[in-house]
This record gives sequence, structure tokens and C-alpha cells, in this order.
Amino acid sequence: ILTDRKMSGEAELYNNACFLSRLVASAVKVADTAGDLIKGILERDELAVIDKGSADFYDPQTEADRAVQYLIVQSLHKKFPDISIIGEEEKVSAVMKLEDGASVDVLSLSFPAELETIEESKDLVVWVDPVDGTTELSRAKNNASVEWLQQATVLIGIAYKGSVVAGVIHQPWSPPNGANRTIWAVKGLGVHGIEVAKAQKEKIVVTTRSHGTATVEEALQELERRGLSTSVEKVGGAGFKVLKVLEGAAAYVFASAGCKKWDTAAPEAILVEAGGKLTDISGRAMVYSADVQKLNSGGVLATAPWVNHEDYLNALPDALKESLPQVAAPRPPKK
Ligand code: AMP
Ligand code: MG
Ligand code: MG
Repeated sequence: ILTDRKMSGEAELYNNACFLSRLVASAVKVADTAGDLIKGILERDELAVIDKGSADFYDPQTEADRAVQYLIVQSLHKKFPDISIIGEEEKVSAVMKLEDGASVDVLSLSFPAELETIEESKDLVVWVDPVDGTTELSRAKNNASVEWLQQATVLIGIAYKGSVVAGVIHQPWSPPNGANRTIWAVKGLGVHGIEVAKAQKEKIVVTTRSHGTATVEEALQELERRGLSTSVEKVGGAGFKVLKVLEGAAAYVFASAGCKKWDTAAPEAILVEAGGKLTDISGRAMVYSADVQKLNSGGVLATAPWVNHEDYLNALPDALKESLPQVAAPRPPKK
């Protein structure tokens, strides 16, 4: 009876909610379910890693990436057939059961008029990174270490007419005990599921662990020289790095191409709602419409609410910025 009452309460809230509320509530719920799916796959030792990279670049994909992509894309498309959903993976694995629930926490919020009037259409683009930090996840077998496991996140970013309006980061294993947590935000409705850090004495800069380049190092050195970085932490995943920024790091700096729109959409939505900023390293806004170039070819600069984004932008050399244009040069035609 209790379950029925709960269900009908949720159904009633759902039916009365505006479209965006229903979409965000469904995204939060399916991200939670995705986390359970990832945990199960790791516990059963079924990661089945394959290399989806090129001849000269290793890019791992696991059964978790394949199954979660299917779960999220199919679950959301079933309810919202008229939106665009762009996920990272091409190869997917069907799962038995889709998620049709929705988060009551989201449904209970009252959406401002500006968001309440948004209707289901192709102007809505959902960016899905089923597992961000796959390299780190595939290193952490059988719950061996939360140090590695915490770097894996599920990212669902929601954009309207090219700009993010909501985001969900689900972390299946968070420190200290490996419990899961879901962090989400809607424009104007606050950040949920995390305590956002206040100003810190140290300016920790987080950056890539596994995709380091000469330009990444150059940027880090320049920030250190200017007193904008007191120490550097190299960790995996765009989602995890933005969680770090929310919890006390000063900035996430990636002065290189390689990171994609599905890596930054959800983190940007949450960070901006917390009062921080996320742009490329030249200060250009990321564009999240369906037809956009997927590669963040201008790099990534994300800053905490308590630091000045401009200071970090100004510290990066012009030549470095020019080496990372907003639009990637087309590849030479194949012979
Ligand atoms: P990282 O900071 O290296 O953990 O990367 C953050 C996200 O961007 C992950 O989803 C990576 O897979 C992706 N990424 C960054 N650099 C590259 C690259 N050179 N090639 C492919 N993916 C990359
Ligand atoms: Mg990723
Ligand atoms: Mg991924």
C-alpha cells in the first residue's frame, strides 16, 4: 500500500510538472539506476574492455559504457521522443529493463516561468557520457580502491537552444566509503546533492591524469608562476574534476583538445549554478546545440565560485590560446 501511495504521489507530481521538470527528474532517476548497473558490472567482473581508439591512441570502452548508454538513451527517448539525445558510444549493449521513474525531489520544485514554458522539441539536446573516467574505472577492479572508483561518473547534461539549463552527475562510488551520490542542478533552482566549498587558502588546480601534453604542462607552469596554482592534482574524468572544483579546488585546466561536449555539459550546468564558470581556455562559451562540433577543441577552463575566471584566462599565453582554436581544423582527406 505504501509503495502504491508513493507511486501515485510521484505519478501525480509527474503529470502536473512542466516538461523540463519531467525531463530533469527522469534524468536524475536514470542516472541513479545507471550507477547501480555500473556497480553490478564491476562486481561481476564483466567489464569486457575493448579499444575504440585509433591506431596510435588507446581509448577504452567497457560493458558499463555500452549498457549505460543504452539504458539512458532508450529510457529518455521512450518518454521524450522529440528531443535530441547525443551519447558518447556508438557500440551499445541492450539492457533488460528501462527506467521509467522520476526524482520526486526534482518534481517538487517550482520552475520559473522562463523554464516552465519550454516545450519538448529538437531545441532540447541531452548530452550523455554513460561513464566518464572509463580509463580509471577499468583500473579499479572489484571495489579495490575508492581512490580509483570515485573518478568514474555518469554525466547527463541538458541544453536548450545551445546553452545548458540543467545537469546531473552521478558518482557510483564516493569517498570515504564508496557510497553513491547524485549531484544535480537546474538553472536558477540551485545545486543539489553536494556542499559547495567556500574560499580556500590553497589554490589546487586539477588536470588530466592520462591525456597530458606539452601544452597542458605549459598552462600549468604559467598558472603556478602567476600564483594561481599552489599545487596540481592529476585525476581522471571531466565530471570528477568539476566535483573537485565544487569541493575546494580552484580550477580545472585542460589546455589541449580531446574532451567532448558530453564531458562538459552536465559539469558546466552544475558549476555555473554554483557560481563558477566553464569556458574553453580562451574564454569562449561552449555551444551545446545538436549540430555543434563535438570536440572541445579550445580546451577547458573551469573555475570555482571563489576565484576570478578572468585571472586564469589572462594568465594563459596568447600563443597557447591560438594553438587551440574553437573549431578543429578539418582532417586531411584519406588517400
Ligand atoms: P581526462 O581529463 O583525461 O580524464 O579526460 C576527460 C574526458 O575527456 C574523458 O572522457 C576523456 O576520455 C576525454 N579525453 C580527454 N582527452 C582525450 C583525448 N586525447 N582523446 C580522447 N578522449 C579524451
Ligand atoms: Mg568522458
Ligand atoms: Mg565516457
